[in-house]
Amino acid sequence: MAELKIYNSLTKQKEVFTPITPGYVGMYVCGPTVYSDVHLGNCRTFISFDIIYRYFKYLGYKVRYVRNITDAGHLEGDRDEGDDKFSKKARLEQLEPMEIVQKYTLGFHKVMELFNNLPPTIEPTATGHISEQIEMVKHILQNGYAYEVDGTVYFDVEKYDKEKPYGILTNRKLEELLEGTRTLSGQDEKKGRLDFALWVKAKPEHLMQWPSPWGMGFPGWHIECSAMSGKYLGTKFDIHGGGMDLAATHHTNEIAQSEACYNVNPANYWIHTNMLTVNGARMSKTAGNGFLPGELFTGSHPLLEKAYAPMTVRFFMLQTHYRSTLDFSNEALQAAEKGLKRLWEAYQNLEQLQQQAQELSDTASDTETDRRCRAFIEGFDTSMNDDFNTAKVLANMFELVPIINSFKGGQIPLNYINRATFDLLQKQFSTYLTDIFGLKEEKVADSGRLDSVLQLLIQIRKEARARKDFATSDKIRNELQREGILLKDEKDGSVSWNII
Ligand code: AMP
Ligand code: ZN
Repeated sequence: MAELKIYNSLTKQKEVFTPITPGYVGMYVCGPTVYSDVHLGNCRTFISFDIIYRYFKYLGYKVRYVRNITDAGHLEGDRDEGDDKFSKKARLEQLEPMEIVQKYTLGFHKVMELFNNLPPTIEPTATGHISEQIEMVKHILQNGYAYEVDGTVYFDVEKYDKEKPYGILTNRKLEELLEGTRTLSGQDEKKGRLDFALWVKAKPEHLMQWPSPWGMGFPGWHIECSAMSGKYLGTKFDIHGGGMDLAATHHTNEIAQSEACYNVNPANYWIHTNMLTVNGARMSKTAGNGFLPGELFTGSHPLLEKAYAPMTVRFFMLQTHYRSTLDFSNEALQAAEKGLKRLWEAYQNLEQLQQQAQELSDTASDTETDRRCRAFIEGFDTSMNDDFNTAKVLANMFELVPIINSFKGGQIPLNYINRATFDLLQKQFSTYLTDIFGLKEEKVADSGRLDSVLQLLIQIRKEARARKDFATSDKIRNELQREGILLKDEKDGSVSWNII
C-alpha cells in the first residue's frame, strides 16, 4: 500500500499516516451544535471529513468514525460568557430545549443525506454523556489543574502552561494569548483570564441542568468532546478533526483537558478544514451570510442567481483542497454544474464502450494514449495520498474526459489502449466518482420530457396570471411543489424549475 501523507496541524507538516492499530482508524470529528440549521460552511467541513472517511475505507481500513452532536453546554461566547444557545432558542421558539435538539438534529441528518454523506459509525450526544464528563472534571480537579468557585469548575490555564504549552496547536505563547483577552473585572470568579469552565453552575431558571458533586449545573462545551472521544476511541486515538475555527479555543482546550486528565495529547493527527467564505468573509450563523442548504437547492436566497442541486454543490467543494479557503460564487457553482455533467457523460461513455472493450488485446499496448491514460489514473491515488487532494484528482479526470469521449466518438481507436488499461480506467473512474467522492447521478433521466410538460404548465400559469386568475396560478405552483418541483420566477420574467 502506498504511503498516505496527512498534514498534521499539530506539527505543521505532512506526515506519513501510521495507525495506532494496524488496519484500524479511529477518527473523531466535532459535530454540529444543534440549536439552529447547519449552513453551507458547516456542510463543507462535514463533506471534507466524509471524503476522508471514504478514502480510508477505500484503502481497506476499518474506521470508527465518531461525530458528536452538541446538544448542551455551548454558550454564546467561546469563553463562558453569554447565554446557553439551547435555552435561548427554546425560550424564543417556546419549545422544550430537547424539542430544539430533535428538530435540528433531524434537519442536520436530512441535509447530510442530501449531500450523500455517510453517517458516522457513532454519533454520541453531549446530554447522553453527562456522567462521563463529570468523571473527567473530577479527575482534572484531583490532578490539580482545575478549581471550583461556587459550583463552577474552571480549568487553570496558567498552571497547566507552566508544565505543558497551552497554545501548542496554534503555536502561540501564553503571553500572546493573554494579550488578546480582556482583563478580569472584580466580579470575575476566574483566577486567570484564559481559564475556561469545565462545569457551569446553573441558575435556577436554567432549562437544562444536572446534579453533580458541585451542585446543579451543566458541562462546559469543550469537555464533551474530550469525554466522548475518550469513551469511544480511547484516551489516545488516530485523528481528530473539525473546522479551522475550532483550533484556537475548542481544540486547544480539548488537548489541555486530556493532558491534564490522562497525560496525553488525545490524537496523533489533527486535521483542520478551511472555511467557506462569501465575498471573502467567513460564512457563519452570526454573520448572516450563511445560506441554508435548502435555500441553495431552491435558489431562494437573494445572493443566489438560481437553484443548485446537492451534487453540484458537493462537486464544487471537491474542486478545492480542504485546506484552502473556498469562496462561494454563482459563477463557480455554474461552472461546477457544467463540469460535473461532463464527468457523468464520460462515465456513461465508458459504460457504453464496455462491450467493444471485450475485444481489446490482453497484451501490453505501447501507445502514447495508453501511457497517458495509465499516468492519469495512477495519479488519482497519488493525489489522494498527498493529504487528500481531491482537486488534483479531478484535474486528472478532466484530462481523461476528452480521451474517453474520443474513444466513444471514434476519433481515437479504442485499441490504442489494452484491455487492462480500459478496465482500470473504468473501475477507477467509477470508484472515485461514486465511492470516494460520494457523487451520485441526479435523476436527469427523462428530464427532457419532464421539461416539455413543465414548460406547458408554466405557460398555462403565465396565462392565468395575465388574466388575474391567481387561484389557478397558485394551484399549479403549490401542487408542483407538493410533488417536489419548485417553480422560480426569475428576475428577467422567465420561470425556471427545479427538483427539490
Ligand atoms: P458549529 O455547529 O458552529 O459548531 O460548526 C460545526 C462545524 O462546522 C465545525 O467543525 C466548524 O468548524 C465548521 N464550520 C463553521 N463555519 C464554517 C465555514 N464557514 N466553513 C467551513 N466550516 C465551518
Ligand atoms: Zn468538539
